[in-house]
Amino acid sequence: MKREVLGIGDRRKHHTRTATPLKGHSKAADTRHCLYRFRFYPTREQAEQLERTFGACRWVYNEGLALRSGAWETHRVKVGFAETCRALTGWKRNEETAWLKEVSSTVLQQSLRHLDQGFGRFFKGLAKYPKRKKKGRSRDTAIYVRTGFKWAEDPARPGTGLITLAKQSRPLDVRWSRALPAGVVPVRLSVTRDRAGRYFVSTLVEERIAPLPEVFVSGSREPKAVGVDVGLASLVTLDDGTKLDHPRLLKRYAEKLARLQRELHKKVRGSRNREKVRQRIARLYALIGDVRRDMLDKLTTRLVRENQVLVVEDLSVTTLLRAARGKNRRRKAKLNQAIRDASWGELLRQLRYKCEWYGRTLVVVDRFFPSTRRCSACHSMGPRMDVSVREWACPACGAVLDRDVNAAANLRDEGMRLYWLVAACLPPGRRTPAVIRASELEECLAAA
Ligand SMILES: [Zn+2]
Repeated sequence: MKREVLGIGDRRKHHTRTATPLKGHSKAADTRHCLYRFRFYPTREQAEQLERTFGACRWVYNEGLALRSGAWETHRVKVGFAETCRALTGWKRNEETAWLKEVSSTVLQQSLRHLDQGFGRFFKGLAKYPKRKKKGRSRDTAIYVRTGFKWAEDPARPGTGLITLAKQSRPLDVRWSRALPAGVVPVRLSVTRDRAGRYFVSTLVEERIAPLPEVFVSGSREPKAVGVDVGLASLVTLDDGTKLDHPRLLKRYAEKLARLQRELHKKVRGSRNREKVRQRIARLYALIGDVRRDMLDKLTTRLVRENQVLVVEDLSVTTLLRAARGKNRRRKAKLNQAIRDASWGELLRQLRYKCEWYGRTLVVVDRFFPSTRRCSACHSMGPRMDVSVREWACPACGAVLDRDVNAAANLRDEGMRLYWLVAACLPPGRRTPAVIRASELEECLAAA
């Protein structure tokens, strides 16, 4: 009965419609999902239509969230994806919210699916409770599944073509900075507008990718491994001593960003000047992101080509902890930290999919592993150290250690220990998994 009260009616009617994450898309074993992002310039008409679409997505997301939270709080009724979809049909019939009809319904459903995934992550303990989306605060996104857009490949320039979104009459003016693989049809599009006001379309395509031949340490059957430490002093340090610094460009941006943020805090809330500064900050963030992504892309490609096993540290939780007590820290330090964390997230993301594509293994070492304090030469524990200490001598064996190189070497050793643990449990002929997480090692071993 309560379901009728909530306007979500009969559950059975929609029982076949379950929210499946995109991962579950059927695809052949040797194909991979790849994302290509392109900038586009909408006409005024298109921009207005997208504005309405973004707004409607946000509205539907918030309304779905309110429905799910409210149903649980007041009636202890669990509302799922199917019911929110049913509610959406109701909202569209409602005169007050009839404007929802101006937006493609599959796009609105994707917004509810996105909400459902948020709840899924929350129930698994992986994320916080979904939050309302606010205009100008959250990034504007609209997802178009296969039925929500038209694609016509350009025969003269394979891999490029015309994309026409649902409820729009003209194709988008896309800058094809590179071509998609010839002959593919995008599976899904996501259209976004970042806070700097730039429009992007990300096309998801299925591609065939051949794994690379395995690489071994020369003259043995030991897989070649590398430990990667993500730090503040250097962006990335490898266990062989290679250091990749933050490019000077990034440092300069970081300084400029700090200055702009100070300026922002001086401006009156809601004022036009504040909005101007906020726009500039958003543009700068976008630039920093582009520079870093591009740089990490080159690095991860090289690392994955040259190594069989790649080891990084799990930083995901320290980020959460830092957010909780962030207010007491100096802003500059916070900024550096933010850049490091963002780099780590991006590095991890790229390594993960590249390892999967090319038949490599990524090991994510537990965050409690003392990668900095342990001596990589004799494995004894050194003293606690301040972040400013860049080099130290091991009290046990006397080895002089560079802080970051030592950490990277420890990560490599620990990663290889885990790698062999998992490899030993695999039936003969089975590949080692693309990702081994120390925190999920037991599940990993059980599955093997
Ligand atoms: Zn030592």
